[in-house]
Amino acid sequence: KDEIMHCAGCGVELQIEEQGKLGYVPVEAFQKEPIICQRCYRIKHYNESSSITLQQDDFLKLLSHVGNTKALVVNIVDIFDFEGSMISSLARFVGSNPILLVVNKIDLLPKVTNPNKIINWVQRRAKEHSLRVVDIVLCSAKKNIGFDRVISAVAEHRGNRDVYVVGATNVGKSTLINRLISDYSDLDAELTTSQYPGTTLDLVKIPLDDGRYIVDTPGIVYSHRLTEVVTKRDLSRIMPDKPLKPIVFQLNSEQTLFFGAMARFDFIKGEHQSFTCYTSNAVQIHRTKLERADELYEGHKGEMLVPPVKADLDELPKLVKHPIHIPKGKRMDVLISGLGWIKVNSEAGAELAVHAPKGIKVIARESLI
Ligand code: GDP
Repeated sequence: KDEIMHCAGCGVELQIEEQGKLGYVPVEAFQKEPIICQRCYRIKHYNESSSITLQQDDFLKLLSHVGNTKALVVNIVDIFDFEGSMISSLARFVGSNPILLVVNKIDLLPKVTNPNKIINWVQRRAKEHSLRVVDIVLCSAKKNIGFDRVISAVAEHRGNRDVYVVGATNVGKSTLINRLISDYSDLDAELTTSQYPGTTLDLVKIPLDDGRYIVDTPGIVYSHRLTEVVTKRDLSRIMPDKPLKPIVFQLNSEQTLFFGAMARFDFIKGEHQSFTCYTSNAVQIHRTKLERADELYEGHKGEMLVPPVKADLDELPKLVKHPIHIPKGKRMDVLISGLGWIKVNSEAGAELAVHAPKGIKVIARESLI
């Protein structure tokens, strides 16, 4: 019989079809009582929070009550894809609750980067997005950098609030939460079922040793990030795992750079100048003449131009051209969400075009470094 069952840990409706989605439980697990979803199982037995993902609309529905409760919202963003990993409607959904912005993956920035400059840059971006943040903390969940600052900022700003940890997928939310769990949680306490008003979905509350909770929320999937549309194999190539080693190109107008077969950067018009590429070193960069670029792409994608390798080429949406005007007197980056960015070093202005897979966010922004 099709009887709806609920997780004894978090109360979510159980399902056996889609791993990685809320409520998933492997068929075998139905034999053991009490039945808990795979996510709760991992938290309970391995101290490990795993990523459950949701589209932004569903996420906002799920968390629509947060604006009416007393909460500290900890928003984790990825410095490698800052604009791509920002939650666009966060300001609206948190109501008057404070937001702590945790900027993760800081280990990827070149060693010489000045942290205060980065914080100021983040502050200006937050302002542009009308996001009032109580604090900005830089950290690396993976390299355990700045982790003390995260904890002390949470302690300082939470008051008697519960803490909601929110973020796009792949920003390192699980990595960070796992640290929190292993350092601060009281796993002898029960994982608490918490039914939120107006929803059928429940969120996992992780008890902390001070009697409060942190609430892990599903990661938001943004299909405008290259990391969300590529194959697993390509994901490991485009996501850097070591500090970025920027590569500088001196270009004349009418020259083109290829980033594997993932994207293409045309310098159409402007005086001879240099461009610095901040991408994973597994993405090969090729320079060619603009007039040869179409032909080169057709003839060499998936071979000389990798990633993606030939077998994965069909998975990649077709490239779409984005014209970009860099005004005089500004230091700008061109960001290709999930792939990295190209810094335009001169302030002389330039006419550019980026060809990126359809749907992927491409923007010009004030330069980060
Ligand atoms: P989630 O989807 O937000 O839960 O992200 P995960 O915690 O699963 O991490 C996504 C990817 O980013 C994994 O490959 C992690 O190894 C990597 N990652 C997480 N934190 C960091 C970090 O601080 N620095 C770097 N370089 N990579 C990180």
